[in-house]
Amino acid sequence: MSRDSHDISRRQISENALKVLYRLHKSGFKAYLVGGGVRDILLGLEPKDFDVVTNATPDEIKKLFRNCRLVGRRFRLAHIVFGRDVIEVATFRGHHGENSDTISKSNAEGRLLRDNVYGEIDEDAERRDFTVNALYYDISDFSIRSYGGGIEDLQARKIKLIGDPETRYREDPVRMLRAVRFATKLSMVIDPISAAPIKSLAPLLADIPAARMYEEVLKLFFAGKAQANYQMMQDFDLFGPLFPQIQGVIADLPKGHAAKMLNAVMRSTDDRVNQDKPVTPAFFYAAILWYPLKQRADDIALESGLQLYDAHVAAMGDVMEEQCRTISIPRRFSTPAKDIWQLQLRFERSQGSRAFKLLEHPKFRAAYDLLLLRGEVEGGSVAKQAAWWKSFVEADETQRGDIAKGSGKTSSNRNRNTAQRKRKRKPAVKTDSAAE
Ligand code: ATP
Ligand code: MG
Repeated sequence: MSRDSHDISRRQISENALKVLYRLHKSGFKAYLVGGGVRDILLGLEPKDFDVVTNATPDEIKKLFRNCRLVGRRFRLAHIVFGRDVIEVATFRGHHGENSDTISKSNAEGRLLRDNVYGEIDEDAERRDFTVNALYYDISDFSIRSYGGGIEDLQARKIKLIGDPETRYREDPVRMLRAVRFATKLSMVIDPISAAPIKSLAPLLADIPAARMYEEVLKLFFAGKAQANYQMMQDFDLFGPLFPQIQGVIADLPKGHAAKMLNAVMRSTDDRVNQDKPVTPAFFYAAILWYPLKQRADDIALESGLQLYDAHVAAMGDVMEEQCRTISIPRRFSTPAKDIWQLQLRFERSQGSRAFKLLEHPKFRAAYDLLLLRGEVEGGSVAKQAAWWKSFVEADETQRGDIAKGSGKTSSNRNRNTAQRKRKRKPAVKTDSAAE
């Protein structure tokens, strides 16, 4: 598409991306804006980031830019760093012929462990994931090149994988998640031929390095489309391989608490993102893993005879460790997630004068938000507990004193009642308060 048959103008491209494109072009290299940047501008959306592709090799790129960092092993790239803004510059990928392992490598399932064969733009286009992502904006004449029908698919709102779907998903199973993410983000439909093999190949996601998965999960659930992505992931069996413990309790718990919690967390995450409120992986993981944690704590208590509180603490480590096998949650989030879990037990025991102390806990707000969701999901005594805390939190200083005093009696009565009920049901497990 020549310059005057499309409406991308340089004003829609970030200054830093333009700098990179011009510098490459002036040094005699080919330089294109590619992927999401072109796609989103054509759709009238604001691109999240700008990716550049060139025929310069990573080493040649490095010589041109002082602010350049070479990154990645599986897929070598240059990052041109402008303060907090990073422009990603890739070299055209080529086809895989007979290469040594240092250049390209696959595993037994067909997954590409390394992809550093360089080529020309046509080959590069075939190595991209979807046709709508194989769009190139040429800085030398401002034309757009579309491969494999990218422009037509963009107009037809179709997410279509380039090449043979099964081979391409096996090369990189994350493409299955990307198909879902682009379909919801761009309000498009996954082409039936591209969708067909997903269910049967979904288990391949379990082998993706956990660090990469962490990043993908953030993009799926923290960009305002969590509900839609969660639903579509379930429809394609893509959720279970990433969250095996959650999928287990969704299947096991007949009351549907775990499933309701997942829906509630996704909805509230979307609401917050769409209102520009902060979201944190600590709360997200604490909430979606709450029912697996409860189940694990019950199992430990039953097997070991530990008190429920101690069993709960032991289960926190187990559940988090297990989740980190598929998604490596950084410690700066997994630690506060455990605080949020521990506070759930203290809510039950702290109605009354101890409530003031709990209010000062740095993770109080997140833990309280989880309590509200639990109340919503379970109703019954948890909903009552949540209601008590809500009145306490929303009251002013003096009212709080009254609420705390007034509840002293009822709260301890209530606790005694629960303790009795528990004792009746499970005589082997002691539930004496050993909380703090
Ligand atoms: P967004 O940035 O909005 O998430 P994007 O399409 O720009 O979407 P990036 O992850 O930034 O996605 O990747 C840039 C481009 O690189 C893509 O448009 C696509 O052409 C290519 N690409 C990215 N990941 C893959 C992959 N796993 N397999 C093949 N090509 C990919
Ligand atoms: Mg991008």
